[in-house]
Amino acid sequence: MNLFDELNEPQRQACLATDGPVLVLAGAGSGKTRTLTYRIAHLIQNQGVHPGQILAFTFTNKAAREMKNRISVLVGPDSRFMWIGTFHSVAVRILRENIRHLGYDDRFVVYDTDDTRSLLKDIVREFNWDEKEWPPSLFQTAISRAKNKFQGPKQWTDTSFFGERVRQVYERYQKRLKDLNALDFDDLIFQTVALLDTHPEVKAQYQRRFRHVLVDEYQDTNLAQYQMVRHLVGPEGNLCAVGDDDQSIYGWRGADMRNILEFQRDFPGATIVRLEENYRSTQVILDAANAVVRNNRERLGKELWTEKKNGEKIRVYRAPDEESEAWYAAEVIHEAVRHGHKLSDCAILYRTNAQSRAFEMAMSRAGITYRLVGGKRFYERKEVKDVLAYLRVVFNPADDMSLLRIINYPRRGIGDVAQRRLREYALDQGVSLAGALAAAGNIEGLSAQARRASLELSELLRSFQAQDGQSLADRVRHIAEASHIMTQLRQERTREADDRLENIGELISEAKRFEDEQGTPDLGEFLGWVALVSDWDETDEDAGGVWLMTVHSAKGLEFPVVIVAGLEEGVFPHMRSMDEGTVEEERRLMYVALTRAQEELYVTYAETRTILGRTTANPVSRFIKEIPEELVAKSQRIAPPDRALSGANRTVEGLALGEKVRHPRFGWGTIVAVRGDGDDTEVTIAFPGGGVRSFLAKFAQLTRE
Ligand code: ATP
Ligand code: MG
Repeated sequence: MNLFDELNEPQRQACLATDGPVLVLAGAGSGKTRTLTYRIAHLIQNQGVHPGQILAFTFTNKAAREMKNRISVLVGPDSRFMWIGTFHSVAVRILRENIRHLGYDDRFVVYDTDDTRSLLKDIVREFNWDEKEWPPSLFQTAISRAKNKFQGPKQWTDTSFFGERVRQVYERYQKRLKDLNALDFDDLIFQTVALLDTHPEVKAQYQRRFRHVLVDEYQDTNLAQYQMVRHLVGPEGNLCAVGDDDQSIYGWRGADMRNILEFQRDFPGATIVRLEENYRSTQVILDAANAVVRNNRERLGKELWTEKKNGEKIRVYRAPDEESEAWYAAEVIHEAVRHGHKLSDCAILYRTNAQSRAFEMAMSRAGITYRLVGGKRFYERKEVKDVLAYLRVVFNPADDMSLLRIINYPRRGIGDVAQRRLREYALDQGVSLAGALAAAGNIEGLSAQARRASLELSELLRSFQAQDGQSLADRVRHIAEASHIMTQLRQERTREADDRLENIGELISEAKRFEDEQGTPDLGEFLGWVALVSDWDETDEDAGGVWLMTVHSAKGLEFPVVIVAGLEEGVFPHMRSMDEGTVEEERRLMYVALTRAQEELYVTYAETRTILGRTTANPVSRFIKEIPEELVAKSQRIAPPDRALSGANRTVEGLALGEKVRHPRFGWGTIVAVRGDGDDTEVTIAFPGGGVRSFLAKFAQLTRE
């Protein structure tokens, strides 16, 4: 097969320009990601570039996986040598190989926002400041911003009272992270840049290794990421970046559009390619998206066209409140399915995660399976974090924060007093907390029990370390058992404890999956991977069902049927953006939302909405008004509130539609269908977590309140 048959002329040009820098600047759905993928295939297949010489950055792990799969179909199994991943995952690989040059141990761990928050809380306490007045999140945001701009504590310039405090915290925070041999998310990029900045030999080594660097979603790189790219691109300057200034939606995370605008200055002689044909959406959808984004002043300006002339008009629906809005969405989906679409062809997009609740409820009650992207994450659950804390200490004994989490969990008699004593000792002697545990025999002021317990724990952790080399899943299982976490949960005999046990079981399965997929039982790699798992990775893609997600999560994706919800002033555009003067970024977000749709597009808003218990009436969003009227078919349909339950209250064996019941394994749910009768009665229950399952009523052991 000739690769180029599947590309149009400018796309081909972007693939063929393999000497020197290339910038593809083009609107949504014009094939930027596709071009990047084919360019890599072309390099390998036709230009003799070894896959190991290719480094590509994607915005999510999911996108990385898809790109790898595509390329392996095109060029075969050698493609596994390519480095394709997010900035963070590439940074972890580079740091594992080289972080010793910065005085860290290569067995570093990655702290998530929870971990760093408790570290910051500790620091505020050490300074004796009022925690209410100086909450950790304040520092977290300020420090993250600084790192995204590649400013360390030494480069801190704000000398105001507030700024001075941040600097103090920032300085101590970095020192503590280093002592703990831990990095936060932003550090991954920050330290990689620092490494490449200060170690020319390391930089040269990577520049030799990667002859071609590619970046997708270039408009959303921040300064630190941009510097990382610059360092990694060798003297040949083989960088191919693709992006769309109209889709820059991460300004709040430090993304800087100037990276696009100044590309030519930074990479002289760059070839600029523009793509204007859109292969995704109908002309109606494109016209609407173009019309909206045209209201922005800060843009380079470009238009999209498609051969898919006409197309269905856009449906705008005004709902009395958010419940009705969600019912309408359920009806649209029913309708789409009736017309031959799969549930997974449909997506509901909203501005903030909190809006998902009404949709989840409506989908459950209408018997529509759905998949929620985001929400409470598996790896943030307490029991999962507990087991992970053990794993982290086993991997990196310097990780005091993780050790503190489990030092007395399950309870083993190392109380607060003993913990304080151990920490003092560690501080005095300049050793880690794990070191203090091992020395407990010689520490004064410890009770006999605390001493014994400390030594036992120290011994236990050592025995876990000695298992290096075993299968990962076995190790995780052994640690969860031998630490007595599982025993303790089993003894509790509550539903909640059972759920927790199941989650630990799931973690063990994850370890197995990781080992099978990545081909290594390395604990450090596993922990690094866990730390970078995003919302997307936790969504079961094979499961089927309507997609529910924020517009941010929908970046780069496409669906035949799209519902964009909550188009009200204050919701979308978000209130904050109006205060902060970033409405243009919200409008780009709207552009992203509209351009996800391939065939049918619905835009909805609610006249009243209850947020945090307060009902408000917001005017319709300016973004709706910016869609030209001739593209809109005002929808007349009103969804009957209890659609799925009409003919309701049909009672079979005492089970009623719409009734709340509890299943021993899955917890509380709502009955959405009852079929058959007598012993064959089958009930279908929607669980708030997302699943809709059917059971034989006879065996389901359902209970009521
Ligand atoms: P976004 O800005 O949303 O990330 P994009 O520019 O990356 O969009 P792609 O996702 O690469 O666009 O492409 C959009 C759709 O168009 C995909 O389904 C892709 O397969 C299809 N497509 C792109 N180029 C062509 C082409 N030359 N021929 C046929 N289909 C194409
Ligand atoms: Mg793309």
